[in-house]
Order: sequence, then C-alpha cells, then structure tokens
Amino acid sequence: MKFYGALEAGGTKMVLAVIDEEGTVQKRVSMPTLTPAETMPGMIDFFRGSPIVALGIGSFGPLDLNPRSETFGYITATPKLAWRNYPLLEEFTKQLGVPAALDTDVNGAALAESVLGAAKGLESCLYVTVGTGIGGGLIIHGQPVHGLVHPEIGHIPVTPLPNDPMPGGICPYHGACLEGMASGPAIEKRWGVSAKELPDDHPAWDLESGYLSQLCVSAMLSFSPEKIILGGGVMQKKFLLPMIREKTVRSLKGYVSHPAVEAGLTDYITEPGLDTASGIMGAWLLARQAEKLAQPNHRESI
Ligand code: ADP
Ligand code: ZN
Repeated sequence: MKFYGALEAGGTKMVLAVIDEEGTVQKRVSMPTLTPAETMPGMIDFFRGSPIVALGIGSFGPLDLNPRSETFGYITATPKLAWRNYPLLEEFTKQLGVPAALDTDVNGAALAESVLGAAKGLESCLYVTVGTGIGGGLIIHGQPVHGLVHPEIGHIPVTPLPNDPMPGGICPYHGACLEGMASGPAIEKRWGVSAKELPDDHPAWDLESGYLSQLCVSAMLSFSPEKIILGGGVMQKKFLLPMIREKTVRSLKGYVSHPAVEAGLTDYITEPGLDTASGIMGAWLLARQAEKLAQPNHRESI
C-alpha cells in the first residue's frame, strides 16, 4: 500500500493527513498556524512519521504558482506577515525528500469536487467557499486554472443592491467587492448579529443571495463552468441555494441558453459533494499528481 501526505494549510489552522492510495485517511491531526519557525517542525515530524511517497498542499495565499518564477511555491503578499515570502513548497521538498505539489486551498477543493464530489465526471467546475472570506477555485479541462497569478474570484466587484444599508462593504482592499459585501463578517457587520444567528426570514438573505447570484452570473458568462459548487459556513443556510438559483436565472434574462438554465439551475448551482473533506482530499489528489509528474517516464503533453 502506498501513502501520501496531504496538507490543508489555513490561516488559522493546519490540517495534516496521511492518506493511502485508495483515499482512506490513515492519520489526521490539526495544529494552529503560528509562525513558520513554530509550525513547520511539527508538520515535518508528522509527515516523517509515515513512509509517504509524495506530498500535496492546498494553501491559503496568495501563492506564486508559476514554475518559471524565482519565487515559485512561495506564499507571497499574505496579511499573515510571518508567512509573507515564505518558500513553503521548497521547505517541504527539502525536508521530506519527496515530490510535492502546491495549489491554493480553493483550487485543491475544486479539484477534489471535480474528481470525487459534486462535479465528478465533468471537465470543469467552479468551487466557492463563503465563510470568513470568499474564495473560489476553478477547474477547466480537469485542471486547476492558474494564469497570471491565480483567480481571486472572491474579490470581484459587485453592484451594491438598492436596499443595502452597508453599500460600502468591508474589504480592506476594495470595500464593496463580493467578499466585502457577502462574507460572514460582512453580514455580521451589516446587521450586528452573526450570520449563524440571523433568522431565516431576515432581509439579510435577500441581499446575500443577490450578491452570490452576481458571482454566479459573472462566472457563467466568463468561463461557463459545467457546475457551480457553493460551500463554506454561510452556505449552511440551506434556503440560500434556491434563492441564488432563482436570482441567477432572472439576471441572465434568457441569454445563456441551455437545458440547465431552463430547469432553474437546480443541478447546476449545488452544494459540495464532499462536505468539508474537499480540502484534504484535494491535497491528496495534488500529491498523486506530484508523484506522477516526478516519474522518469512521464512526458509533458505537447
Ligand atoms: P472559514 O471561512 O473561517 O474557514 P467557515 O467556512 O465555517 O470558516 O465560515 C465561517 C463564517 O461562516 C462565519 O462568519 C460564520 O458566521 C458563518 N457561519 C457559520 N455557520 C453558519 C450557519 N449555520 N449559518 C450562517 N452562517 C454561518
Ligand atoms: Zn476585496
């Protein structure tokens, strides 16, 4: 049996697992994200404790994912100052001596959803988490999209809705971007009550579904993913999904013609298939890709 290391590197906690080749989690721990000097040794020890053949990392960002860059595999301009310009990928490969792959946490989760979850069997999907922040991972042709850097779909501009009592938003960079308007903390700031505590009939949800439908419309018009998967703490409010679908259909105004739209996007804008396991299973899939890429007979497709 072969074993893979999987790391879900979050801003507040690190989740580490050893997962076998069939996808069964053999060992799993979590530790707080302190400074690299405090947190790295424990993570290295954990992975050294098992005979892993490769490591996959889904990390908070922003990250440098350009293999031709001098700072490839670094965490770059993060507000978590201790991790700014930290060579995360290099440290692990150096210390563990196994092939490793790095992607954003949300690209990892999107990959897991596309291979094993709600978008299984499809070539493309968008996975978005609506929680403390809003982040999205995009899979096209079965692979996470990078590009100039990597998509930051949580920060797309949105149009403030007419009845919004907080039209300025709270994003420290953009004010009224999607995250600034629709993240858990934005809801709490606007209404003075946590998103979790707000009653189901509160006007907050009309606004929330309005902003998230703006994201869905932009995504459908920009990349036409075959599925949009919405997860994260705020999406625990299950009644949001139908509201988002309805507003998305309305905003498209018949312009995107497909049976999925005509069916009200019921199977198109969905919840995650892997619940909260998408992050760690995404890291496992990244580890398997790293192993494959490192094999001597591997050829880059032309
Ligand atoms: P994180 O984004 O930090 O990884 P979560 O995805 O759990 O974690 O998101 C946390 C946010 O989700 C908080 O702002 C919280 O208010 C909100 N939240 C958590 N549970 C619920 C719920 N049942 N309904 C609505 N909002 C929720
Ligand atoms: Zn922003």
